[in-house]
Amino acid sequence: MGYWCTNLLTIVSILLLFPVINGWGIDGHLTVCRIAQSRLSKAAADAVKQLLPEYAGNDLGSVCSWADKVRFRYQWSAPLHFINTPDVCNYKYTRDCEDDNGEKGKCVAGAINNYTTQLLTYNSGSSQADNNLTEALLFLSHFMGDIHQPLHVGFASDKGGNTIDVHWYRRKEVLHHIWDADIIETAEERLYNSNVDDLIDAVQKNITNDWADLIPRWETCSLNKTACPDMYV
Ligand SMILES: [Zn+2]
Repeated sequence: MGYWCTNLLTIVSILLLFPVINGWGIDGHLTVCRIAQSRLSKAAADAVKQLLPEYAGNDLGSVCSWADKVRFRYQWSAPLHFINTPDVCNYKYTRDCEDDNGEKGKCVAGAINNYTTQLLTYNSGSSQADNNLTEALLFLSHFMGDIHQPLHVGFASDKGGNTIDVHWYRRKEVLHHIWDADIIETAEERLYNSNVDDLIDAVQKNITNDWADLIPRWETCSLNKTACPDMYV
């Protein structure tokens, strides 16, 4: 089952793929960002609050799908949502992180590195004039979600599962969409009375209880870098 081995990438990072369609659906991105925001250091939380657009209040989750909404207006950003591997069950940044024209760094891991670097200039006064740090924050928080959607790091040949037809219960879907939305929405309906806040609470309880022993490993970067898109092992 080739596409299962695409479930290889994870990010171990600071705070804490495929073209055609969005990353996680709205609730997936909302969940990732709400949990991430709740785990920020005070300095990072203050910076996020300052950078969020006024309409978002202090809710990063509410704007975590912004990058999908601007995908057509910012056409250059389309390749930044995923990584194509050459139909092999492994990932190499130097081999795989490029767009269709072969431009290096144009993939979701490259985007995470880039926007993290930009955000680290916050308050330094150095490059704030050159970069829109609000957009950098919205891109980074979205791409952190995308890279954890297993089919956003997958085979070029099946467009990250977008050409694989499957059935989700009685509905015909493509495999990519099952991961984007159906798994999450069905879990919400069946386990959490269709309430995304309850789903978020349950995941947060897992993080603080059942998965607590794993967190140091998730937070360790073998490359000792602030942004660390890395293989999940
Ligand atoms: Zn996306």
